[in-house]
Amino acid sequence: MASKYQAPRGTFDVLPEQARGRARLERAAADVFGHAGYEPIATPVFEDTDLFERGVGQSTDIVRKEMFTFEDKGGRSLTLRPEGTASICRAYLEHGMQKLAQPVKLFYLGPFFRHERPQAGRYRQFHQLGIECIGTDSPLADAEVIMLLSELLAELGVPGVELRLGSLGSFEARRAYLEDLKAHLHAHEGELSKDVRERIDLNPLRAFDSDDEGTRAVMASAPTIVEQLEGEDAEHFAEVRALLDAAGVAYVVDPTLVRGLDYYTRTIFSFVCDRLGAQSEIGGGGRYDGLIEQLGGPPTPAVGFAAGIERILLALDEEVPAPGRDAFVAIADEAQRQRAMALAIELRHAGISAEVDLAGRGLKGQLKHANRIGARRVLILEADGSAQVRDMETGEQRPADLGNLVGEMKGGGE
Ligand code: AMP
Repeated sequence: MASKYQAPRGTFDVLPEQARGRARLERAAADVFGHAGYEPIATPVFEDTDLFERGVGQSTDIVRKEMFTFEDKGGRSLTLRPEGTASICRAYLEHGMQKLAQPVKLFYLGPFFRHERPQAGRYRQFHQLGIECIGTDSPLADAEVIMLLSELLAELGVPGVELRLGSLGSFEARRAYLEDLKAHLHAHEGELSKDVRERIDLNPLRAFDSDDEGTRAVMASAPTIVEQLEGEDAEHFAEVRALLDAAGVAYVVDPTLVRGLDYYTRTIFSFVCDRLGAQSEIGGGGRYDGLIEQLGGPPTPAVGFAAGIERILLALDEEVPAPGRDAFVAIADEAQRQRAMALAIELRHAGISAEVDLAGRGLKGQLKHANRIGARRVLILEADGSAQVRDMETGEQRPADLGNLVGEMKGGGE
């Protein structure tokens, strides 16, 4: 009978057959990032609401509409984390990581929460993996971070990926540009969607993201910051591009690229996948030179990205088969139960996967079960203490040499 309870809207269960693909992805990420010196970090799934309001930005959709915010029993306002960067910057400051050799290179992975309208590839609890490279403004760091996501997607074999690259300039350049953009939007107010019109002064960059036809027409003639970049900002962006070119990482410069978080400066990027439909972004990120200062720390330049684990898995669309078991230890007589357990443990310690019957089946039932779980060999403990080994592929059965248990169960006593 189906349970009257279901997973909450926008959430899902990861069943064992899905967990295998996830585990492969997580291992690949830990390898790719680990080999580049990024170390794992984990932060709590909830934080003070204020951290995200300051860190993600009051004008963003995330803070305005999407946070799961609640009061705890002590009357504090807490929020389930909608993204990872603000928390990691908080941890960086809280633990004095600015005293370590810079940059500090971190890697994370876990659940995040946004109250969005669920659809394919968009959930209320989803999982991200990401890296942060904190404490350097060098374009080398931007290029490295981009290359690492590119490498991970290539390593996993994600098809149809395109990298889009942009730059927002430094904080000051961005501020000057935003004035130009606001002027353009105000001059065309009547042609804009209500949502964009209401946020001209709050978050004009989001107008580039609009699906509204009128807004899109206005944006086609809007000034872009990429064409206005000057001095060190222009040099920084040119250097990032040169490094990607030299590494053979393909990209398109997209002057209209914006991201849903307020904290970005200079480089921004987005990896999209043509297999994903409406929610086509696999991952993205950029430089956030002002964020740590914004959170009360010293000026600390940084760059990073986050990628959606479910989006990567959707793009891969593959099933990872269950691993076969090496061995099953069956009993022909109840008196052999404890011995069966002891032998299975011995096999496991030797690195051989081994199971015993936990459901009180008769011998026939045990053999059927061993077959069902894909055990390659079954050890059958007889009532008189002797044992048989059965090869499940050939059906061949012969007396087993328990003095060479591991060899017997591995592949024929070699
Ligand atoms: P963001 O933190 O908004 O820059 O998002 C980074 C990545 O996380 C996106 O490219 C998506 O792959 C993934 N992502 C963001 N929001 C969701 C969501 N609601 N459901 C599933 N994946 C998401």
